[in-house]
This record gives sequence, structure tokens and C-alpha cells, in this order.
Amino acid sequence: AVRFDRVTKDFGTLALDEVSFTVEPGEVVVLLGLSGSGKSTLLRHVDGLHRPTSGTVRVLGTDVGRAGSGELRRLRRRIGFVFQQFHLVGSLTVLENVCAGALGRLRGPRLGLISYPKALRHEALEQLERVGMAERSLQRADTLSGGQQQRVAVARALMQRPEILLADEPVASLDPESSAQVMRLIREIGTERNLTVLCSLHQVDLALGWGDRVIGLRAGRPVLDTPVAALDRERAMSLYAEVGGAAM
Ligand code: ATP
Ligand code: MG
Repeated sequence: AVRFDRVTKDFGTLALDEVSFTVEPGEVVVLLGLSGSGKSTLLRHVDGLHRPTSGTVRVLGTDVGRAGSGELRRLRRRIGFVFQQFHLVGSLTVLENVCAGALGRLRGPRLGLISYPKALRHEALEQLERVGMAERSLQRADTLSGGQQQRVAVARALMQRPEILLADEPVASLDPESSAQVMRLIREIGTERNLTVLCSLHQVDLALGWGDRVIGLRAGRPVLDTPVAALDRERAMSLYAEVGGAAM
């Protein structure tokens, strides 16, 4: 589980302001908010890239604000991350990119890219099958469309066998159809594998379509924390206003 207890982050400007919530395994929580509302900052507190100025962040039993570097490293191996810009290695094949997702959990010296063991390549292929990209496994990553690249990035994150999946605007640079496809995958895989999922988005419709619960942020403050099932259309429309209005 991920638990924030009155978390404040002060960079000089207040990026998070007394944020409290808990996310349990199997739950898909969407963070909604305008640019600058604190979504990325919040996600970076989960994997310990940031430590809170005050308050407590507990992730899988680790107190992130007080953990040493070894403890943080072990925690990060249990967290998969998907980014807006995919961050695949363009010159490598799809399969190599996905295999690389397992590097964090492999013991011993770093493996050469050509020498991934057969069992690992097999596992990578299974993850690619899950995201519908197995037939592209030998294609260079930089020849894929954006939506395809993000599906590969999801497969790479899964290679870590994560317990938590963080996604920071995973569909912000995708067209509507690819966006829905990627959100569907995140949703289904999160449920299947009992992952704790935190995903930031700009679009209310995608949040309602694929989230279990929506946390709305405005200027670092949580202004909304509601199960999607409890939101009717009218309430969903007023959600736009609550998290910051028309620019969404
Ligand atoms: P976007 O939708 O544009 O990605 P966001 O909701 O992810 O926005 P954050 O990136 O979390 O917003 O930023 C929240 C606030 O914290 C902003 O005012 C930002 O300028 C500030 N901020 C974030 N990181 C830092 C940092 N490392 N140093 C100083 N200020 C920061
Ligand atoms: Mg951001």
C-alpha cells in the first residue's frame, strides 16, 4: 500500500500542501489536476526521488522520508514507472528494451544486452503478448508509433514484477484511441496482478473511464478524493471546476 499522511513539500513554492490518502493493492487511483498542481511531485514522493518537507510517506512498509539509500534502492525495485515520453532506447529492439526492465532485480554484474538469458527473453515476450506487442519484438523501438511505444514501456515496467505501478501522464502525448488503449491496459493489468496503481492524467473522461478513484489536486492541495462509481455525470462535470476549470 501507499500511504501519505499530511505530506507537505516546500520547494520555496509549496508543491504539496498537507496531502493525506491511502491506496491499497488492486486499486487504480487517478491524480487529476492542472499543470503545476503537484501531480509529478506527488509521484516522486512514492519512489523516494523526493522526501517530504513534513509529514510521512509510507510505501510497502518503508518510511520513504527516513529510509537510507540501500532501503530506497530495494523499494524502487518493487515500483514500476511509466513516463509521458516513454524513455525507450530507440536503437534497441522492442524485446531488448523490455528485457532491460528486469535489470534491477537481476543479481550480479550487469548483463550485456545481447546476452539476456533465454528464460528472461521468454518472460519479456510474455509481457509483450500481454500488451499486444509480441509480433513487434524484433523491431527497433524508434520505429514504433507513440501508442505502441507506451505499450512496450508498460511491458518493460512489468518485467520488474512490480507491486506498485506509477504512471506520470502516460497518455499525454497520444491520440484519443491510443490513450484509451494504454489506459485500458494499465487498468486491466493493475487489477489482474493486484498492483497499487497511481496514474496522473489531465483528462477527466479518461479518469472516469479507467480509474477506481480520483484524487484532484489544486495548487498542491487535495480538493477531491472520490470513488469513480460515486460520480454521476453532473458531479463529473463539476469535477472540471473543482480541479481548476476549463483548461482541462
Ligand atoms: P504538469 O501537469 O505540468 O506536469 P504537475 O501537476 O506535475 O504539472 P509538478 O511538476 O508536480 O506539477 O509541480 C508542482 C509545483 O512544484 C510547481 O509549482 C513546480 O514549479 C514546483 N516544482 C516541482 N519540482 C520542483 C523542483 N525540483 N524545484 C522547485 N520547484 C519545483
Ligand atoms: Mg507533471
